[in-house]
Amino acid sequence: MALPEPRVAATTGLDGASEQCWDVIVIGAGPAGAMAAREAARGGASVLLVDRASFPRPKVCGCCINGAAIGVLNDVGLGSLLQQHHARELRAVRLASAGRFANIRLSEGVSLSRERFDTALIQAAIDAGAEFLDTTQALVGDTTVDARKVILKQGTTEQFTSAKAIVIAGGLGCRVFVEPDVDERKASASSRVGAGTVLDVAPAEFISGTIYMACHKHGYVGLVRLEDDRLDVAAALDADAIKQHGGIAVLVDQILATAGLPVPPALKNAPWHGTGRLTQHRDHLVHPRCFFIGDAAGYVEPFTGEGMAWALASGRAVVPIVLEFLRNRRQTWAMIAWAATHGELIDNRARLCRCVSRLLRFPTLVSIAVRLLKYAPWLAQPVVRSLNASFAQKATKVKVRSQR
Ligand SMILES: Cc1cc2nc3c(=O)[nH]c(=O)nc-3n(C[C@H](O)[C@H](O)[C@H](O)COP(=O)(O)OP(=O)(O)OC[C@H]3O[C@@H](n4cnc5c(N)ncnc54)[C@H](O)[C@@H]3O)c2cc1C
Repeated sequence: MALPEPRVAATTGLDGASEQCWDVIVIGAGPAGAMAAREAARGGASVLLVDRASFPRPKVCGCCINGAAIGVLNDVGLGSLLQQHHARELRAVRLASAGRFANIRLSEGVSLSRERFDTALIQAAIDAGAEFLDTTQALVGDTTVDARKVILKQGTTEQFTSAKAIVIAGGLGCRVFVEPDVDERKASASSRVGAGTVLDVAPAEFISGTIYMACHKHGYVGLVRLEDDRLDVAAALDADAIKQHGGIAVLVDQILATAGLPVPPALKNAPWHGTGRLTQHRDHLVHPRCFFIGDAAGYVEPFTGEGMAWALASGRAVVPIVLEFLRNRRQTWAMIAWAATHGELIDNRARLCRCVSRLLRFPTLVSIAVRLLKYAPWLAQPVVRSLNASFAQKATKVKVRSQR
C-alpha cells in the first residue's frame, strides 16, 4: 500500500516570529521539542517551535518506539497517532553474534520512520496552537530583565526575537548558544558514533515485526522494517574502525556478515548519515531561562532503543515546570525542579543503558549472552519489561504543586 508523503509546513516566517516576546521558544522539533511545544501550547503559553531543518528530514535512528514512549503518547492523548501513521507492531528482537542467534519476545513497541513520526508530532504541536518555523537556526543570546534574546538565522538573514523561557531540544551535539563557551556538553572519548540509512529494497529474510541486532567487537547494527516496508538500518560504530575499514558501508557489511545476517546489496551505495560521539552528558540542565531536554540534555549509546522515550518523557515533564516558572519567575526553583525531575525520569534508565553498552564492548561476554538467551530467552524479560515500563509522573506533579 502506498502511503501519503509525510509533510508539515511552517506556520510563520522570520518576520512573524520576531514580532513578539514569546512565553516559550522551543529550539529543535524532534520528538522532545515537538512534545514540549504541544504541551506548553495546551497549557496556554504562546509558543514558537523552531528547527534548522525542513521536514521530513533524515535522522539517524533505529525507529523503534518502545512501550515507555507509547505510554507517554497515550498519556497526552496522542496514542492514536501511531496507528494513524501505520506504525508496524514489533514482536521480537533477533540478536546475532558470530553466527549464533537468540530470539527475544516483545510484548510492546512499534516501528515508524522518523520522517513520519516527527512530522506527525510537529503537526500535533501546531494543532495545539504552537507556531512552527522551519529552516531556521536559533541561537540563544543575552538575558534581559524579563526575557532572553534569541537570534533566528535563515542563511545570511538574521532577526532577533525573545522569550521568557527557552526549551532547548536541539538533539545530540547541537549548538544553541551565541557564545560557544556556555555550551559545556561533555562527550565520552570512548563513545561510539552513530550511522544510519533507509533502504528501499532489502532481502526478504528481514521480516516485519522483528528487530535484527548484529553485534560485533567494532559496534552493532540494528535493522527493522518500517511502515512502508523500507528497511531502516542504524548503527553504533567505533570511529577508528570506520577509518580502518574504509568507510561506514564496508564496516556495516562486515558486522552483518560476521554476525550471520544477510547483507542487503543496496547498503554499499546507500546515502549514509552520521553523528558525533553518542554518549554525552551535561552538568547543568538549566541556564538562565533555558531548560535542556531530550538528547540535548544527555544521551547514552542506543542499543536499548530508548532515546525517543526519554525525549518524549522529558518534553512532557519540563512543561509544568516551565509554566510555573512563567508565573513565579523563580529561576533557582526552576533549576532545582528541572534537574531533580529529569534525574528521576531518566537516571535509572540511563544507568541500565550504560551497563548494556559496556557489556557490548566484550565480544566473549556477548557471545555467551547470545548462547544463553538462545536456550533461555525468558532471561531477557526483566530488561525488556524495565525498558517498556512507564515513566513516573508523580514526582513532577508533587514538586510543582509544592511551590504553589
Ligand atoms: C544509531 C541510533 C539508533 C537509535 N535508535 C533508536 C531507537 O530505535 N529508538 C529510540 O527510541 N531511539 C533511538 N535512537 C535515539 C533517538 O534517535 C534520539 O534519542 C531522539 O531522536 C532524540 O530526540 P530529540 O528530540 O532530543 O532530538 P532530535 O530528534 O535529534 O531533534 C533535534 C532537532 O533539533 C534541531 N536543531 C538542532 N540545533 C538547532 C538550532 N540551533 N536551531 C534550530 N534547530 C536545531 C535539529 O535539526 C533536529 O531536528 C537512536 C539513535 C541513534 C544514533
